[in-house]
Amino acid sequence: MKLVGHFVDGKWVSGSATRRGDVFDPATGVRTAEVELASAAEVAAAVEAADRAARSWRDASLSRRTAVLFAFRELVHARRDRLAEVITAEHGKVLADAAGEVQRGLEVIEYACGIPAAMRGGFSENVSTDVDSYSLRQPLGVVAVISPFNFPVMVPLWFVPVAVATGNAVVLKPSEKDPSAALLLAEWFAEAGLPPGVFNVVNGDKQAVDALLDHPAVRAVSFVGSTPVARHVHQRASLAGKRVQALGGAKNHMVVLPDADLELAADAAVNAGFGSAGERCMAISALVAVEPVADALVAKIAERTAGLRTGDGRRGCDMGPLVTAAHAERVRSYVEAGVAAGAVPVVDGRDVRPDGDPNGYWLGPTLLDRVTPEMSVYTDEIFGPVLSVLRVGSYDEAVDLVNANPYGNGTAVFTNDGGAARRYQHEVEVGMVGINVPIPVPMAYYSFGGWKASLFGDLHAHGEDGVRFFTRGKVITSRWLDPRTGGVNLGFPTQT
Ligand code: NAD
Repeated sequence: MKLVGHFVDGKWVSGSATRRGDVFDPATGVRTAEVELASAAEVAAAVEAADRAARSWRDASLSRRTAVLFAFRELVHARRDRLAEVITAEHGKVLADAAGEVQRGLEVIEYACGIPAAMRGGFSENVSTDVDSYSLRQPLGVVAVISPFNFPVMVPLWFVPVAVATGNAVVLKPSEKDPSAALLLAEWFAEAGLPPGVFNVVNGDKQAVDALLDHPAVRAVSFVGSTPVARHVHQRASLAGKRVQALGGAKNHMVVLPDADLELAADAAVNAGFGSAGERCMAISALVAVEPVADALVAKIAERTAGLRTGDGRRGCDMGPLVTAAHAERVRSYVEAGVAAGAVPVVDGRDVRPDGDPNGYWLGPTLLDRVTPEMSVYTDEIFGPVLSVLRVGSYDEAVDLVNANPYGNGTAVFTNDGGAARRYQHEVEVGMVGINVPIPVPMAYYSFGGWKASLFGDLHAHGEDGVRFFTRGKVITSRWLDPRTGGVNLGFPTQT
C-alpha cells in the first residue's frame, strides 16, 4: 500500500505516524493509499524548519526569489498532465476539469513571478525640508495554509506562490482525502531551487490543523474549507494573535431575468451546476428563475442534463464521482429530503448508470424544480450535483432571496438589460458577481473571496489582497543630516 507522508525541510518524511487515514479512488472505491496524520510534535518540527528557513529567505533578493518562481512555473507547466492525473485519481473530477484547475493555479504562480512590481512601495521626497518618506512591505515569517479536498492543487496555489514570493516560509496542510498532489508541488518547488524549509507539506487532520493554529511561530493562517471549520480556524488563530483569512462554504445563486437569452442561461446552469460534480465553492446550486421564464428554462436545462455522461474521469466523461462514499450518501439524502418536502425531480441522478466501476461513489446530475427557501436542499450547502430551481415573481424578490442567504461567495445574473445587471451588481451582498458569466472566479491579479459566512477575515486570496495579507507595511521617515541644521528642539515635529 502506498504511504503518503510529509515534505519537511527539503526532505520526504514518513513512517513515524501513529495515526493514518485512508485515501480512495472515488471512481472505483478502491483504497489506493494511506496518509500519515501528523501529531502536534511533527507539525512543530515543520514549523521550526520553516522558521529557520524564513530568516534567510526574507533576505533573498527579489531577483533570486522570482528566478525560483519562474523555474517552478516552467516545471508545473511542463508536468501539468501528471498533476491532473494525480488529482483525478484521488478527487475523481474528470481529467479535463483537473487540467483546468492546474491552469488556474499556474496563473497565480505567474502573478507571483511579477512580485517585484506587486510589492513595490511608495516614496515622497521632501515631505519636510530635507526629509523623505517611503513605505515598504516585509514578509511575516512562517505562514500556514490549510486547504480543502475540492481543489487539491489550485487552492494551495492561491496562497503558496504569493507567500513565498513575498519572502515567507510556508507550512501547507492539504486535505487528507487527496493529499498526493501537494507533495508533488513541494518536490517541484525544491527542484526549482527553493531552499529547504521554505515550503513544507504536513499531512494530517484536525490535530495537525489545531497544532498549526496554536504554534507561536506561525504568524498568519490562510484557510479554505467549510464554514464551521473556517469559523473555528478564524476564532482560534485570532485568539492566538495571528492574522487570519478563512474562506468558508457557499450557496451560489444564478438569477435569470425574463429578458435573458435562455439558451445561454441553460448552458451556463448546466456547466456551473454539474461541473466537478458540484464540488466547487463557486458551483451554482440555486437557480432563481424570475417568472415567466421558469417552465422554458427548466425544459432547456433538463434536455441538456439528460445528455451528460457520468463516469470515470479518465474515460472522457462529463462528470465524475463524488469524493467519498459518505459524501455521496449525504448528497443523496438531501435529494431524498427535497423530494419528500415537495421538490420535483425533473432529472433524478439517483438512477444514474455510470460509465465506471459500480463501486464508485456515483450520483448523476439532479435537477430539482419548485424548491422553496425552507427546504434543506436550499438552506444547506450540499456540495454535489444538485441544481435547485426556485421560482420568483420579480427582480426584487430574487435579490431579497439572494441577500437573505447567510453565504455570499459567488452569484450570477443572466440578462440582456445592462441597467438591470448594473443594479444587481450594486445591490447584491456577495463577494464575486458574474454578469452572464456563471462562475465568476477572478483572475490571479484580482482577489478571490466571498462575503458573510463565506469568508472570515478582511483580505481575500491572491492579487493585491494576497500581497497585503502576507506582508506588513513599514513607513520610513529619513533625513541625512546637514551639520548646519543641528540644534535641540523639544517641540512636536511639524512640517516646515
Ligand atoms: P473541510 O472544512 O472539511 O476541511 C478543510 C480543511 O480543514 C482540511 O484540510 C481538513 O483536514 C481540515 N479540517 C476538517 N475538519 C476540521 C476541524 N474540525 N478542525 C480543524 N481542521 C479541520 O472542507 P472540505 O470538505 O475539505 O472542502 C469542502 C468545503 O470547502 C466546502 O464547504 C466548500 O464550499 C469549501 N470551499 C470554499 C472555498 C472558498 O473559496 N470559499 C473554496 C473551496 C472550498
